[in-house]
Amino acid sequence: MSSRLCVLGSLNMDLVVTTPRFPLPGETVLGGSFHRSPGGKGANQAVAAARLGAEVAMIGCLGRDDHGAELRRVLATEGIDHQAVSESASPTGVALIQVQTSGENQIVVAPGANADLSPARLENHHSALQQADLLLMQMEVPAATVWRAAELACDAGTLVVLNAAPAQSLPAEAPDLLDALLVNQAEAATLSDLPLETPPEDLLRALLAQGFAEVILTAGKAGAWAGRKSESGLQILFQKAFPVVAVDSVGAGDAFAGAWSMARAEGRSQQECLQRGAVAGALATTARGAIPAMPSRAAWKDAKFP
Ligand code: ADP
Repeated sequence: MSSRLCVLGSLNMDLVVTTPRFPLPGETVLGGSFHRSPGGKGANQAVAAARLGAEVAMIGCLGRDDHGAELRRVLATEGIDHQAVSESASPTGVALIQVQTSGENQIVVAPGANADLSPARLENHHSALQQADLLLMQMEVPAATVWRAAELACDAGTLVVLNAAPAQSLPAEAPDLLDALLVNQAEAATLSDLPLETPPEDLLRALLAQGFAEVILTAGKAGAWAGRKSESGLQILFQKAFPVVAVDSVGAGDAFAGAWSMARAEGRSQQECLQRGAVAGALATTARGAIPAMPSRAAWKDAKFP
């Protein structure tokens, strides 16, 4: 089974500095090590699916700078078709990440060229949307572009999946355009206007009540839920998380989204899609960073599917 995915989304360079503590306003703190690594939810999810064996084309926007050149090289190395990754005069998106010794982080993202991914930039790339089995998107690029791409893909019979991260209110037509909505607990709480402490199943039900055909809710090591409306009523499935020694949860949601979408495009059952997402999510927590932590095909094959 092979599947063709189109991932429309952000590409960022993550600039990471470790610090004994976060600076107070106006203060300078002497930190520790610095490293940079490629990231952005779009790029992370594209790499996650490509490493597991999907044929992936990406739609995005980079600046004409060193970060942009490096991110394009990463896509090429991962075998991702990057013809629809255009360039703009803005700098490539960056995420400035401070990681405290305790493991907590603070992040400021400068979207840069990601914000230039306008609907007009889709014009020459309809075929990437229409020829894919599944279109996977997130909310780190302009919403107008996300919904235009959803319309084009929907008309062509391509499955449309939105990972609503970061959460922002969705247009009234969203349930008609999406085949599935992927959210974590915090995003589900925002979109359903319920408190964060609401049990995951209730959050899932609230989103299904908004009219979404299928909702996937991930909740870190508490596992993942999938809900779908069927003729016999609501069908809700649960997948427990795989036991791993987690060192860094960055990228878990993106690995889940890439693997889940690949399985969905292959026509696998809802439970199998959840399992695959959960294995990829768990593996991503066993290494640091986002793209560097996306599971390899070998690690994936070695993982014991339940
Ligand atoms: P996000 O990164 O978007 O907040 P989650 O933290 O919900 O996403 O993680 C996505 C999925 O990855 C979870 O549903 C789970 O299957 C897996 N996962 C995340 N953290 C762990 C962990 N510590 N141990 C095992 N699996 C995990």
